[in-house]
Amino acid sequence: DMNDGYEQNIEERFDLDEKAKLGDGAFSVVTRATNRATGAVRAMKSVLKSRVQKVEALKNEIDLARDMDHPNIVRLYGIYEDPRHVYLVMELCEGGELFDRLSEVYSLGEKGARACMRQVFASVAYCHSKGIVHRDLKPENYLLYDKDKPLDQTLLKLIDFGLAKPLPEAGCLRTRVGTAYYVAPEVLAQAYTEAADVWSSGVIMYIMLCGAPPFNADKDSDILRLVKKGQYSMESGVWRTVSTTAKSLIKACLEMDHKKRITAQDALSHEWFHRDEVDGAPLD
Ligand code: ADP
Ligand code: MG
Repeated sequence: DMNDGYEQNIEERFDLDEKAKLGDGAFSVVTRATNRATGAVRAMKSVLKSRVQKVEALKNEIDLARDMDHPNIVRLYGIYEDPRHVYLVMELCEGGELFDRLSEVYSLGEKGARACMRQVFASVAYCHSKGIVHRDLKPENYLLYDKDKPLDQTLLKLIDFGLAKPLPEAGCLRTRVGTAYYVAPEVLAQAYTEAADVWSSGVIMYIMLCGAPPFNADKDSDILRLVKKGQYSMESGVWRTVSTTAKSLIKACLEMDHKKRITAQDALSHEWFHRDEVDGAPLD
């Protein structure tokens, strides 16, 4: 068994609403579930053990996620196990993926982007303060907590610690993982630290402001070629109305030298976050 400490008898504790599917992962289904004793409604990730290549990897995800306690990271409340599944009981997010919201609009505008990016950097700074590198930051992995709220009033929550790793002391990580659009150049060179997450955050911010990724091509291999060169632009039409402070924060995140790159904590006190924009008025 995976872990003798995990509780048993999921059906006794939870009413699983199999029809209320919230999402699919590579080896999992996420549905709505109600705690029979408390009435609390949760998100339940059911992982089929037979589909998990390495039980160790799932254990890693659980151990890291369990230790996270931050308003911008989905809480993991409990773990259950039966012969065929492992179940993760999580805080329920009702608003879907940030990815889908971004797909609906051309740009979030600076006000919306600022409200979202403040939460993205807060979640990343918290992970890094605990020595954890998420390694898969992307809009698919940020969920909207509230169902029908405008984006600038919504709580965002980070999910999926499936690729997360503790940073080795005085060392670096070497495995090439992640998603082409968001991956940092030093990850491709296989020697990186938590700064790789800040690069991905910069990619997310860029997408929020112009609707397209900074390193964009049809094939992954072509995307990666652009990433390695750090070749992107903020010259096209949409960028003309974006403030220079927003652009300077993106540049600080997409700094090629990861030792010179801004940290998530410093990003939170970047000038771009100092002002609360009057709607529609240019900032600079
Ligand atoms: P995997 O590790 O298999 O990729 P994820 O943890 O990414 O699984 O979850 C798969 C999908 O389920 C997510 O993309 C999301 O749409 C949905 N989901 C995951 N966690 C929650 C949650 N706490 N609340 C609502 N939906 C969720
Ligand atoms: Mg996922």
